Amino acid sequence: MKEAKALFQKLKLISLLDLALLIPSSYNNTTLSKEIILGEVHTFEAEVKEVSNINGKLRILFWLPTFSQRLSSMLFRVTPYHHQLFTVGSKHYIQGKVEEYKGYLQMNQAKSVKRIGEITPKYATPVKESSIRSLVECYITERSLKDEGLNEKEVSTLMGLHFPTSQQQIENYDREVLKFVEAFNHMKKLRGKREDFPALEALNGELIPFFKGLPFQLTKEQQAVIYEVQQDLKRDDKAAKRLIIGDVGSGKTMVILAAAVMAYPKKSILMAPTSLLAIQLHEEATKHLPKSMNIALVMQGKNEGDYLEADFIIGTHALLYKEDLPKASLVMVDEQHRFGTKQRALLEAMMANEEKKPHYLQFSATPIPRTQAMMQSELIDVSLITSTPFEKDITTRVIGKENFPELLEDIKNEIAQEHQVLIVYPLVEESTEIPYQSLDEGRGFWEKKFDNVYVTHGKDKNKEKVLHEFREKGDILLATTVVEVGISLPRLTLIVIVGAERLGLATLHQLRGRVGRLGLKSWCYLFTNNKKNNRLKSFTQTESGFEIAKLDLKFRNSGDILDGTIQSGMQFKWLNLAEDEHIVSVAKERVKNI
Ligand code: ADP
Ligand code: MG
Repeated sequence: MKEAKALFQKLKLISLLDLALLIPSSYNNTTLSKEIILGEVHTFEAEVKEVSNINGKLRILFWLPTFSQRLSSMLFRVTPYHHQLFTVGSKHYIQGKVEEYKGYLQMNQAKSVKRIGEITPKYATPVKESSIRSLVECYITERSLKDEGLNEKEVSTLMGLHFPTSQQQIENYDREVLKFVEAFNHMKKLRGKREDFPALEALNGELIPFFKGLPFQLTKEQQAVIYEVQQDLKRDDKAAKRLIIGDVGSGKTMVILAAAVMAYPKKSILMAPTSLLAIQLHEEATKHLPKSMNIALVMQGKNEGDYLEADFIIGTHALLYKEDLPKASLVMVDEQHRFGTKQRALLEAMMANEEKKPHYLQFSATPIPRTQAMMQSELIDVSLITSTPFEKDITTRVIGKENFPELLEDIKNEIAQEHQVLIVYPLVEESTEIPYQSLDEGRGFWEKKFDNVYVTHGKDKNKEKVLHEFREKGDILLATTVVEVGISLPRLTLIVIVGAERLGLATLHQLRGRVGRLGLKSWCYLFTNNKKNNRLKSFTQTESGFEIAKLDLKFRNSGDILDGTIQSGMQFKWLNLAEDEHIVSVAKERVKNI
């Protein structure tokens, strides 16, 4: 088919299975009816008995030999063609919805159909019905579907939907099959996109002394992930490409440090999204890494140590502008979702050497459902850290205006114990669209009632400085969601989120992750005008980011989320990532075996 390529493009189809999954939205069935059910569309054999003109409309009386009954039909949009077609005595196959009027059968706007006994699919796409039909006829065959890796049942289900021979096939198909094909197709495409390159070097530095020097025992999951990374790094035929996902506080930094140790004496580079985070990582690296390792910090306008000589270079995006940045065999990006795709790729590209690439590890504190991780891992290896080194003790409560006095008591209580409080507002400035106070409106109250109140927000140029000062001297921090940034405030034990129902669970989870980082008993108050909100209620019942990602999917259609944090990149028509784990795992197994 010569226009196939353009059609594929126009319909945004990448694979043959994309086309196969373009299931018809309806069908036109011209099988002659054997019985008459009022209100439904029928196809009859019919002979024209009488034709009359009524006010520009055409009334036709048909005889139905099969049923020995008369049927009247009114045509409202009449053209010369209709007059020619429906002459007295002519025989037709007519189609339309059958109703009863004053004891007579009636089929208004009856259509004359040429061929009977056919079920014709209708596709709801922006291209011509005939084009899409020939595209499907050309590409969707038993052979081609089998070649894509589908089994008998899957092939026959899809063939039945595109080329049905009975009503049964289009009404009673197995939805599970479509879910499976959807998952399978998605993973195959991801796998097709994956490109592997040889590594610059195999890295296999000794880990034991590093482990022995740590003030704590690594958790089982930390150890398992470090082991996975070790298997990656010791290869030189294939550069590592791994995403390590773990909740805030799950101890990802230890994996970063272990990787730097494995790279040593070869160089490694770590990029962090903010200077505060870079400084923290630098502090931790200096504290835990073997003294023989030379560590440098690179930030805009400020360096520490000599990065030209360092074994481990830690920095912000300022790294991307250093033309003399030494080549490193291992590249890491912390809090990777804070960087654009381009920035992430650039650091890797700066280290690459012809076809060889550095080992590349990315870290994310945005948990995704296990099903999504399973799919994602076709493109990039994924490791999950689902537990934290120490149990956090956080009580989450949904509160409203009437609970404000109690809240004030709790806040005073925490401050009296030298703990800190964070209050998150939905907006900086007043807005009529949101039934909550803004940061500007709320700050006067807190500043009058409390000492050491600090204020910052997303567009605040001094935000890092404010956060820094607050960490040392503050009691209450008023902010917008900027505090999502991975800064550690160890004394923070109480967070209030104003207008909580407006935020996605992922954002709420990130915010709640700010408190109790060192295991101090902590509180998270979700302030809302709608205390009955089920999404918030379910959020109070779990602290696992992975559970919450799943809940987010479950509540995806609840419609009240305004921050857009609910994953939208992975929309499936049949597959439900919250429920279809089994299907995804079967599909994954199949992809592996082709
Ligand atoms: P993440 O980067 O995943 O948010 P961090 O690596 O910053 O988490 O770890 C959070 C805190 O837990 C840090 O203070 C870190 O020193 C500590 N920590 C990490 N691993 C362990 C462990 N196995 N046992 C005890 N504490 C740990
Ligand atoms: Mg971290």
